Formats: sequence, C-alpha cells, structure tokens
Amino acid sequence: MVHLTPLSPTAVYLHLHTFTTFLYLYVTSQQACYAASAVGYLTGRPGACLVVSGPGLIHALGGMANANVNCWPVVVIGGSSDRNQETAGAFQEFPQVEACRLYSKFSARPSSLEAIPSVIEKAVRTSMYGRPGACYVDIAGDMVNAKVDRSTVRVVSCCPSPPVSFADHDSISEAINVLKKSKRPLVIIGKGAAYGRAEVALKEFVEMSGLPFLPTPMGKGVLPDDHPNCVAAARSRALLQADVVLLLGARLNWILHFGLPPRFDPDVKIIQVDLCAEEMGNNVRPAVALLGDINAIVTQLLEGVYKDGWKYSSDTEWWGTLKDKVAANAKMSKALALQSTVPMNYYTVFHHVAQLLPHDCIIVSEGANTMDIGRTMLNNYLPRHRLDAGTFGTMGVGLGFAIAAAAVERSEKKGQRVVCVEGDSAFGFSGMEVETMCRYNLPVIIIVVNNNGIYSGVDPETWKEMAKMGDLTSIAPPVTLLPEARYDEVMTAFGGRGVLVRTVEELRSALQLCLSDWEKPSLLNVLIDPSSDRKQQEFPWLTRSNL
Ligand code: ADP
Ligand code: MG
Repeated sequence: MVHLTPLSPTAVYLHLHTFTTFLYLYVTSQQACYAASAVGYLTGRPGACLVVSGPGLIHALGGMANANVNCWPVVVIGGSSDRNQETAGAFQEFPQVEACRLYSKFSARPSSLEAIPSVIEKAVRTSMYGRPGACYVDIAGDMVNAKVDRSTVRVVSCCPSPPVSFADHDSISEAINVLKKSKRPLVIIGKGAAYGRAEVALKEFVEMSGLPFLPTPMGKGVLPDDHPNCVAAARSRALLQADVVLLLGARLNWILHFGLPPRFDPDVKIIQVDLCAEEMGNNVRPAVALLGDINAIVTQLLEGVYKDGWKYSSDTEWWGTLKDKVAANAKMSKALALQSTVPMNYYTVFHHVAQLLPHDCIIVSEGANTMDIGRTMLNNYLPRHRLDAGTFGTMGVGLGFAIAAAAVERSEKKGQRVVCVEGDSAFGFSGMEVETMCRYNLPVIIIVVNNNGIYSGVDPETWKEMAKMGDLTSIAPPVTLLPEARYDEVMTAFGGRGVLVRTVEELRSALQLCLSDWEKPSLLNVLIDPSSDRKQQEFPWLTRSNL
C-alpha cells in the first residue's frame, strides 16, 4: 500500500519502503548507487538510491551502468529542478531522464503527484522482471513539498517476485541427449545462477549427473569451490577442450572469451540457459537454447537425468585430464605461497588469509592482480558471497559493496563477516568511505594488498632515488603510487582499527584480532613486494587478462 499525503521526502521514503529494500544509509552518491545495486543482487529486490539533482545524479550514473551491465536490480530516484523552471538555467538543472536512458531499462518523470505510485511501482517491477537492471525516477523539486488529496491517488500494491517460466519439454530432452553424447562435458555456473537462487537444484544436478563445473568470478560459491566436481583450477584447459558446455546464467562475453577460439574448441556445442531471449546466440549459436528461469530449468534437467538414470562416468579420460591439471596448478600456487620472503608475494598473503577466513564470509574484491589472484586462492562456499568488479570491470565499487553487504548482514543477522580485499589503487577510488563504515560501526575488514602501484610499483629506496634525479611528475612511472602509503592510518583517523603488516606472523595475528572484533571496522595495510606478479601462465594472452 502506498501513502501519499503529503508528499514530502518522508513520503518518498515510505513509497520506497513499500516496494524495495531501503538502504537507509547516507553514502556519497556514487558509492550509494553501487551499494544499492549490491543490495539488489544480495536480496533479489532492488535497493533504492536517492540522489540530489545534476551532479548528484551524474555521480550515480556509474552505479546505474554497473548495475545494468551486471543485470542487477536497482532503483535510483533523483531530485530534479522544478517543472516550471525547465530549460531556464535552474540550479543543478540537467536533462536527467534523457541522461539515464543509456544507463537503465526505464527512465521517467511522473507528470503529477498522483502518478508517483504507479511510476515507482513500474520502476521497481521493471528492475526485477525479465533481465534485471537499473531504473530511474525523476522527482521535480516543486513536487517535494506539494500536497495531494489522498482520495485522488490510485493505490498500487507492492509487486510480487518475477513470474517463473520453464523451458519447453522438447528442448530439455534435446539438451539431455546432447549431454549424453558428450565426451568432454562442462557446466559453467554464472552469476545469473547465483542471482536466480539455483544453488539447491544445481548441487543435486551436478552430483546426480557427475559433471565437472566451473564458476565464473561471481558464480563462485553457488556450489562450494572445494566441491569435488569443481575444476576451477583447470579453467583454461576445461574451456579449451570441452566439447559440450552447459552454460547456466553467464554470457559469452569477454569474461568467457566470447565462447570462441583460441580459448574454446571451434566445434563446442553450447546448451545456453538464460531468461533473456535476446542473449541466445550472442557470439556463438547454441546447439540448444533453454529459455526461462535457471532454477526452474535446472529442476527440469534434473528430472531428465533421473528419468534416464544417466550419469557421466568419473572414470573418463576427460576427468583424468582435468584432475591432473587441477593438482598441478594447486601445487604451483602452494609453492609460491610457501615462499618465506619479506616483503611477501600475493600468493603468500592469500594463502594465509584463506586459512583464517570463516567459510561463510562475504568476500568483496577489486584491483588488478589482487582481484585476479585472490579469486583463485580465496574460496567461496556459499552463493552470492562474492562481489567484485563484475562484467563492467568497474574499479571503485569495493567499499560501497562492502557497506551494502554489511548493512544486509546487520538486518539479516546471519553472523557473517564482510571482508573487502582491495588492491591499493582500487582502494584509492573510494577509500574515504571508511568514514561511512566508522560512522555506522560496520565491522568490515578491509585488506589492502599494497604493492605501491597499479599492477606494479617501486620500493621506497627506488622512489627516493628517482626523487633525487628530478621532478617526480616527469620521472615516476604513471603506474606507481606513493610507496608504503599508510592506508591503515586512514582507518585509524576515523576511529577504526588500522594495522600495518609486513610479515606472515603480523598478517595472521592482525587478521585474527580483526575477526574477533564485531564492534568496528578494520583495515590491514599489507605491504607486499612491488614486483610480485601472477604465476607463469600457460598462454601468453592470460598474462594481462582479468581472468
Ligand atoms: P557472469 O558474469 O557470471 O559470466 P553474466 O552477468 O554475464 O554472468 O550473465 C548472467 C546471465 O544470467 C544474464 O544473461 C542474465 O540474463 C541471466 N539471468 C539472470 N537471472 C536469471 C534467472 N533467474 N534465470 C535465468 N537467467 C538469468
Ligand atoms: Mg596495487
């Protein structure tokens, strides 16, 4: 039910509260929009983000674009100049509805107070139904304090969860037949499967069918990373040699190398599962297209597997190849992790962090090497417990996402920690949000893996040498940041816990201390070797990819 008299900012809050998860936090508008979109992903209902006009709305565009590209629901509501001042050069005047069209599924300004409930309802519904995404509602300034007679307002009830559709039976049988004929099958689990809450059916399907699976970055945790059928550590091999791929809620975009050679077999048969019909056939024409809700379709596939009593044998050459590769890669990472040098390398840091993190924690991550290497070393065990730069590759989302995850955790009280693993450069985008974390006592643990730069930096001695040579603005490589910058002191400045870490012992004891504290946020500034890099990659094109 909607209450609309008088329409004040409070009334707008009420509408939102009726329809959406309302993240009642004050955060800068760009981070607020990232945060609200993460709420949408985590809860399945859009978070609402209120921004001021002009620059406030423009700062939120990054979050809207990110949400849209990630297929996450979010509703942005922008204040706007008065209706009678359009084109008059009003304060913060901007063509906001038009600007938002590129970044949203729906963008509109209610023409009257009476129209607000139905426009908000449409925005909320559109953000969730079909492929989820961002929606924008523009509220003219003169509406904020205006009044309306309640009896003239059409009451709009809260919209239910999206309707669920199943794939057609013939296509399901065809998919099962293609899987049965496959010699080297592979299941790819994307963040659509996470968003679609397909974890229970998917676990049963994978275990009944005996198929190997590979999660995408945010598909991690739909099934636990330590599941015996997970072949994430043999990713390149699995993608290259699979003859049939069951693609569950993942697009064949750059994250999956477009489904094309040289990363995929040119003759690979794709069984594509998605709720968006327009997605079918992007880059590769699927052998079978299963249109509908992932959870429903996995249930259908499961029925097919049960009916036929079919199971892919664990005794095949394909399983042997994948397991050998998984073991070899794990051995290589472990050897790097156990190097006892100071400064530490990435692998050492992640090895120890992974040992200490609780299995139910939510991991937020961004950065270049930090995110890439961290993804391979930090396991996820639960669905929707990893948030990262995503399909848009957006840096700067980390602290907003962490704030959202901590706020959701506070309302759901599951007792789960939020751990934000940041590169030093990524932290710089939104580092001041530590103030928000301190203001609300959100017990987020931020781990800044600090290599003094973007991809790589220099050590303090080299920096001093360069400074002696002349003006650093012309000498220092643009990818270097201030060596050994005290990010920990940024956290301390606002009353949180900040710790500078150089060794394995310091890392372990500081992380244990932070994990035992639920009262305030912490930041571990982990100084690593500025030349630390990813381990040798099998293919040269992997060296600088985000995967
Ligand atoms: P990833 O980043 O993991 O590769 P993408 O964001 O590329 O995943 O793809 C997610 C896909 O999942 C999108 O194409 C989206 O349309 C689809 N999707 C989202 N929710 C559902 C759902 N409930 N059922 C089926 N498909 C879904
Ligand atoms: Mg860095």
